Amino acid sequence: MNDVGPAGGHEILIMSEEICEELVGRQDAFEAVEGVFAAMARGEARNFPVVREALGHADALYGFKSGFDRSGMVLGVKSGGYWPGNAARGLTNHQSAVLLFDPDTGRLKAVVGGNYLTAVRTAAASAVSIAHLAREDVKVLGIVGAGHQSAFQLRAAAEMRGFEKVVAWNRSPDKLEYLSSVAAELGLSFESVTLKELGRQADVIITITSSFEPILRGEWVKPGTHIACMGTDTKGKQEVDAALVTAARLFTDEVAQSISIGEAQHAVAAGLVAEADITPLGDVINGIHPGRANDNEITLFDGTGVGLQDLAVAEAAMRKAVSGGRASVVGGTYPAKGGRPS
Ligand code: NAD
Repeated sequence: MNDVGPAGGHEILIMSEEICEELVGRQDAFEAVEGVFAAMARGEARNFPVVREALGHADALYGFKSGFDRSGMVLGVKSGGYWPGNAARGLTNHQSAVLLFDPDTGRLKAVVGGNYLTAVRTAAASAVSIAHLAREDVKVLGIVGAGHQSAFQLRAAAEMRGFEKVVAWNRSPDKLEYLSSVAAELGLSFESVTLKELGRQADVIITITSSFEPILRGEWVKPGTHIACMGTDTKGKQEVDAALVTAARLFTDEVAQSISIGEAQHAVAAGLVAEADITPLGDVINGIHPGRANDNEITLFDGTGVGLQDLAVAEAAMRKAVSGGRASVVGGTYPAKGGRPS
């Protein structure tokens, strides 16, 4: 695709945030994420160990998420992180870019903006969990958190079931205004509530905060609820109490991440949950695991965020950009014809 020209010139595609947003919709992201979760569970796609370090500057966390999907021939890395001071500057706290490589030669194929794709793939992950694990008759969607990701989460989740109402909680309730306007746009009623009330009303709950202590307690959550815990993606973070994790039937994107950097890390460390208690969501997608056993059990998806999700949506962006002629191309040959690298 990018090896063109009689001299074997090497073209690299560049896709801006704007192009990604224009080309990759929620359905594209859903299909890409569902497909790669399934490939991971079949052992055809592998995430490499995550590097995530505190920079000691700007309070930022920075790292790499990488992997290889043999079934889709997708190889690459997302590099970026979390700059908590960005919002005050009018910028997104998460900043990242994806590099895609040719798995046959290792040559760089594309540079893809990662900010929009991160939000849409994270929302797709919880949407895939809702599609496969939530009861069919759910009506009330609970959202915990009102940061950058939350509206993406709401839009994607709302498409999965016949929701009628959104109940939401945020540390500072005044920040719920935007989420409320998105709910209105989607034709859903909206109520700002306490966490206890959120648990009492919600049939599906998405937690998407940066909390480092449990904020949602198991005793507040109704039987039959599906919970997607999406905020905990680092050692030490926690959104729900260990009692809730212990009571729930557990699913995740990647078991190794769930027990180390995901929501299950605390229950596992306390000896309340074992690695074997956690099922990859891909097993449910592939029909290997039945998923929810009955209408009364609580299902919990521990969405830790894997590099292969980023690569899958970046690949989808690249394919659409190529077929629609929407990518910028930079070209050149190195070494120059006849030359040798020094
Ligand atoms: P953001 O900075 O825009 O918003 C942070 C949210 O967390 C706000 O609602 C804030 O009120 C809340 N919050 C922060 N500290 C809290 C605390 N101690 N108690 C309760 N609420 C608290 O961030 P964002 O972009 O919306 O991302 C939210 C979280 O999701 C981040 O922690 C991020 O690392 C995580 N995330 C996970 C994935 C994944 O794949 N699992 C992907 C993207 C982001």
